[in-house]
Amino acid sequence: MSYNQVDTPDGTWIGWFVNLQVNRFLCRVPQEYIEDKFNLTGLDMLVPNFHQTLDAILDLEFDTEYGFNPMDADPELTAQLYGLIHARYILSMRGIDDMCLKYQRGDFGICPRIYCDGQLVLPVGMSDSVGESHVKVYCPRCRDVYQPHARCAHLDGAMFGTSFPHMFFMQLPHLLPEPPLEKYTPRIYGFKLHKSALLPPEHPEPDIKNTISTDSVNNNNSNTNVSSGKSLPLIPMVSPPAVKVSQNSSPTIGPPMHRFNFTIN
Ligand SMILES: [Zn+2]
Repeated sequence: MSYNQVDTPDGTWIGWFVNLQVNRFLCRVPQEYIEDKFNLTGLDMLVPNFHQTLDAILDLEFDTEYGFNPMDADPELTAQLYGLIHARYILSMRGIDDMCLKYQRGDFGICPRIYCDGQLVLPVGMSDSVGESHVKVYCPRCRDVYQPHARCAHLDGAMFGTSFPHMFFMQLPHLLPEPPLEKYTPRIYGFKLHKSALLPPEHPEPDIKNTISTDSVNNNNSNTNVSSGKSLPLIPMVSPPAVKVSQNSSPTIGPPMHRFNFTIN
């Protein structure tokens, strides 16, 4: 049984807390995991009023309508302690199984990178210490990190830790996707940019005769033109010549991509 299947509040503080929309990235840590003192080693040094805060987390008769009463523990400390326990739990086999269910149903969102083609992502922290940074999402395809959906963006990254996605794919290697084959190629009017195009304006103008050549200066780009199947000339991004070359160029040199989509007012 997975604890993630419990989607309705059950009167416990944990049930209430993990069902808040802003906590959608969090899974439900089983009561018995929290009651095992071994799993909490060292946390009493990190969270003030540790025992009172722990009692609030384990509260089985939490008032879901009115929340904490003045006699209860500090809500922020309670969330912080739960987050630190959560970061440990999701590195356990059972925790990884619980997070896998959330991953596969898309609770953490998808990679915003076009060439990752909707790859599912996992939450990750940039630090293991509380209060240093908010949670990010890790894409296992492009292996980069991004801002998560705004709704969950304010969770502390330490609730997940820096190791979680890597431990996840170490335990479930069959879920690790292949790296993306395609890479975005910058173009102007359909022409790839020569590397000199990004030099500062005060740099001496490159020799256009030598740079308009199908001999690839950037060998990495020579294989990326999958759609047309032919190699395109490289041009420098020096404004007047670039426009001139594109207007006079034959359609056989390169596709007239979006040439008439520009509006000059
Ligand atoms: Zn990606």
